[in-house]
Amino acid sequence: MALPRLVPAATSETAVTADLRAEVRAFLAEQIATGGFVPAVDAWLCGWNETFTAALGAQGWLGMTVPKEYGGQGRSFLERFVVTEELLAAGAPVAAHWIADRQIVPSLLKYGTEDQKREFLPKIASGDCFFGIGMSEPDSGSDLASVRTRAVQTEGGWKLSGTKVWTSGAHYAHAFIVLARTAPVDPAHRHDGLSQFIVRLDGPGIEVRPIISMNGGHHFNEVILEDAFVPDAMVFGEIGEGWRQVTSELSFERSGPERLLSTFPLLATSAESMANGEIPRDANLGRLVARVAGLHRMSTAVADALERRQPADIPAAVVKVLGTTTEGDIADFADLHAGDDSAIESGHRELIMSAVDQRPGFTLRGGTNEVLRGVIARGLGLR
Ligand SMILES: Cc1cc2nc3c(=O)[nH]c(=O)nc-3n(C[C@H](O)[C@H](O)[C@H](O)COP(=O)(O)OP(=O)(O)OC[C@H]3O[C@@H](n4cnc5c(N)ncnc54)[C@H](O)[C@@H]3O)c2cc1C
Repeated sequence: MALPRLVPAATSETAVTADLRAEVRAFLAEQIATGGFVPAVDAWLCGWNETFTAALGAQGWLGMTVPKEYGGQGRSFLERFVVTEELLAAGAPVAAHWIADRQIVPSLLKYGTEDQKREFLPKIASGDCFFGIGMSEPDSGSDLASVRTRAVQTEGGWKLSGTKVWTSGAHYAHAFIVLARTAPVDPAHRHDGLSQFIVRLDGPGIEVRPIISMNGGHHFNEVILEDAFVPDAMVFGEIGEGWRQVTSELSFERSGPERLLSTFPLLATSAESMANGEIPRDANLGRLVARVAGLHRMSTAVADALERRQPADIPAAVVKVLGTTTEGDIADFADLHAGDDSAIESGHRELIMSAVDQRPGFTLRGGTNEVLRGVIARGLGLR
C-alpha cells in the first residue's frame, strides 16, 4: 500500500518573502531596542499588548490575507506565514489579535455574511477588534460533539444558555464564536444539530469569570451564557452546519508556526548561555535546533498547501504533535541545565520559569496529542 504523503511538497523562500522577513526582523529589533516589548515565552497566548498590535496594524501586518475591499492587505498566505514566524521567534506580544487574525479571518471569509465581513474584517485588520473561541465546555473538550450549550430560536434571533471554559482572552476580547446545539442529539448522527454564533462579550446574559493559572497569570476564563440574545444577523454560517465549520476552523488553528515556536526565545537564550559558558556544552542543544529546523520546513510546507487550497489537516496534525512536543522538550532542556546556578542571567531564568509553567498547555490546546495521533492514524488508513 502506498502511504499518503504526510508532509506536502514545500517551495523555497522567494525574494518577496525573504525581503519581508528582513523587514520584520528589523522592525522587531527596533521595538526591542526601544522598549516596545521584552521577548517572552508563549507570548502568542499570554502577551496581550494592544499598543504593539496597533503598531503591527500600521505596518500592514494584520489581516494580511484579507482582500483589500474588506480593509486588508490582499497578500498571500505564505507572506502572512513569514511575518507570524518572525513575530513568534522574537517572542513578541501578539495575543490580542492572534485568534482573530489566525482563524476568525479565514472563517469569516469562508462562512461570514457580507454584513459580517464588512463589520469585522476591517477592524481586525486595523487591530481594533479581538475575538475568542467558544468551543470547550466543562464536560466537553476533545469530544466537542458533546457540547451542551443550547441555542433556542426566539423572535429575531436565538437565546444561548450554557458554560464555555478555557476561553483565552475573553476578558479583553470584543466577541467570541460559540459552538452550540440547535437540535437535540441524535445518537446515530452526533455531529448534526450544531451551529455557530458570533456573540458579543459585553452583551446582557454574558458573564466572564477569570481562571487564574498556577503562576498567577490570567489568560483564560469561564464564560457563562444565560439566555444571551444573539440576533439572526450574527448566526455564523448555516444553522446545523457547525461541525463542518468548526473542523475547517481547526485546520487553521492547528497548522501555524505557533505550534512549534512557543519556546523559541528560550532556545535562543540557551544557545547564548552555552556560548558564554554560563551553562555546560551539550550536544542536545544541536538536536533541538535540528528538530526546529525540520519543523520549520514542515510547517512551511503546510502553509504552502493551504495557499494552494489543498487539504492539510493530516500534515497539520503531524506538525502539531511533533512541534508541541519539541516546545516542551526545549523547556525541559533549559530547566535541566539551569539548576540552581546563580550565574544564569536573570532574563534567561525568567524565560525558563515561564516555559516550565506554560508547558502543560502546549500539547493540550487546539487538540491533544493523543487525539491528533488518532487523526493521523485515520489519515494513514490505520483506523
Ligand atoms: C492554554 C490553553 C488555552 C485554551 N484556550 C481555549 C480557547 O480559547 N477556547 C476553547 O474553546 N478551548 C480552549 N482550550 C481548551 C482545549 O481545546 C482543551 O483543553 C482540549 O481540547 C482538551 O479538552 P479537555 O481539556 O476537555 O480534555 P479531555 O478531552 O477531557 O481529555 C483528557 C485526556 O484524555 C485524552 N483523550 C480524550 N479523548 C481521547 C481519545 N479519543 N483518544 C485518546 N485519548 C483521549 C486527552 O488526550 C487528554 O489527555 C484551551 C486549553 C489550554 C490548555
